[in-house]
Amino acid sequence: MAFAITQTCCADATCVSVCPVNCIHPTPEERAFGNTEMLYIDPRSCIDCGACADACPVDAVRPVLTLTGPEQAYATINADYFEGTEPARRAEDSPTLHAWGAPHFDRVLGADFPRLRVAVIGSGPAGMYAAEDLILHTDAEVTVIDRLPVPDGLVRFGVAPDHPATKQVAEKFHRLHQHPRVRLALGVEVGDGLTHEDLLEHHDAVIYAVGAPADRRLGVPGEDLPGSLPATTVVGWYNGHPDVAADAVDLDTERVVVVGTGNVALDVARVLLSAPEDVAATAIAPHALTALRTSKVREVVLLARRGPEHAAWTRPEILALRHLPGIELVVDDHDPRIGATIDDAARDSKPATLQGVARRVFDWTLPPAPGRRIVVRFLATPTEVRGDLETRALVVSDGVGTTEIATARVIRAIGHRGQPVPGLPWDEQSATVPHEAGRVDGVRGAYVAGWIKRGPSGGIGTNRRCAGESVGTLLDDVLAGRVSTGAGKRRGLGRLLSRARNR
Ligand SMILES: Cc1cc2nc3c(=O)[nH]c(=O)nc-3n(C[C@H](O)[C@H](O)[C@H](O)COP(=O)(O)OP(=O)(O)OC[C@H]3O[C@@H](n4cnc5c(N)ncnc54)[C@H](O)[C@@H]3O)c2cc1C
Ligand code: SF4
Ligand code: SF4
Repeated sequence: MAFAITQTCCADATCVSVCPVNCIHPTPEERAFGNTEMLYIDPRSCIDCGACADACPVDAVRPVLTLTGPEQAYATINADYFEGTEPARRAEDSPTLHAWGAPHFDRVLGADFPRLRVAVIGSGPAGMYAAEDLILHTDAEVTVIDRLPVPDGLVRFGVAPDHPATKQVAEKFHRLHQHPRVRLALGVEVGDGLTHEDLLEHHDAVIYAVGAPADRRLGVPGEDLPGSLPATTVVGWYNGHPDVAADAVDLDTERVVVVGTGNVALDVARVLLSAPEDVAATAIAPHALTALRTSKVREVVLLARRGPEHAAWTRPEILALRHLPGIELVVDDHDPRIGATIDDAARDSKPATLQGVARRVFDWTLPPAPGRRIVVRFLATPTEVRGDLETRALVVSDGVGTTEIATARVIRAIGHRGQPVPGLPWDEQSATVPHEAGRVDGVRGAYVAGWIKRGPSGGIGTNRRCAGESVGTLLDDVLAGRVSTGAGKRRGLGRLLSRARNR
């Protein structure tokens, strides 16, 4: 029968270590790890033990025979990943399924080291994977600090509310909050009067996992007109982010244009077109649900600068978009190259996911036709947000001519951007903190993990290996005497945190 990994996989590789026949790939040791959209099960070797399904924090693993509707595609998607490869090892071929290499203990601090005390700044995936690594592999005490009154970073305030299985990964983090060697300090902003040196009074090292909260700009005229918004605002709004006002997004318009074709753009399109009854039972913010109830939005246009072969979405997310009840997915057929690329695409390529999707030519000066739809327009570079006092249209260029798309709402979903961290060096180009395997050179006891370390890309699970590398470097530094344990005093930490919280 075999099991298959499905849409919600966040590639954290938890399942890899529990599989008795090593049939889940790529593993963290393989070069492809971190470069695939998800992990895959080799159906030729799977022995149906179900261990991976039990271990998966987001319920992504299912027996193939129980897949229904659009999820059935995952049986083929998993199998396709292994096409042309040898089966890992068939269970019936050999009772010895793993070769036992020499043991190595890369996380061991000798008992003669005083207990390590580490501050982790940020309770999102990178921060929590770093905390987990320290708690599980050393006897460190960890203070997890977050500026928001609610933990989990983008798992809480980024992942779309209609993806409850993905949000479930937070339960794993919440268990760690209860650990006797973990102290969670919410509503405490580092940098706002609470400095790196203050933290080093009470800790031996500080791991900054503060994410990349800003948005990238289009750099076109009219971008700041009312009605033109960053996706960070829209995503924060429907997720109830404390920094985003309940009235920050107005759905009093029939057409919304989203610039971008990454998974965040797809999330925004899907949520804005959701039937209120379909999302009422999710974690959507009450004000967003109320707005959906009176929403006039019936068409969301996704704009891609280049052709279908360069779309930024992942296959699982676009496949899901093809099967939304009551929402049609259409490709704008304004240029013959688009249809040709889709029709000629190889079976498991990105453009092939659009084979069979309707294609039409649109008159963008007219209001949207009846019905709800998502239109993907490729070969469309925004050149101007047009309007006098507020957004009236978006002008796009295909390199030859321009088209004006009538719309009152433009949402730019072209990526996140990190912000400088007080006291740490900064690389303006990549908007990250320069580091060497997580160590911030030139700043005593400073380490980075997650999006602030490697830039804003990669799903939740990618941060596990990233945080693991930083923790590994920190422990190496302890062993090499570059970080001295026992320097951070426990006394006075509570006072410091509550002073910072009340500031
Ligand atoms: C809209 C959106 C949807 C996504 N959906 C998915 C999905 O469905 N599946 C998936 O696998 N991945 C998804 N991702 C990617 C995933 O969320 C990221 O890989 C991950 O959250 C990055 O982790 P991080 O810990 O580096 O940053 P974050 O999750 O942003 O966490 C950073 C934390 O640091 C805190 N912080 C920041 N500055 C300070 C400070 N000065 N002091 C104290 N605390 C501070 C913040 O409040 C935040 O809690 C999504 C990303 C976005 C933007
Ligand atoms: S069901 Fe068992 S054998 Fe199959 S992939 Fe999962 S853990 Fe491996
Ligand atoms: S989310 Fe993690 S545990 Fe679940 S299938 Fe993906 S890699 Fe495996």
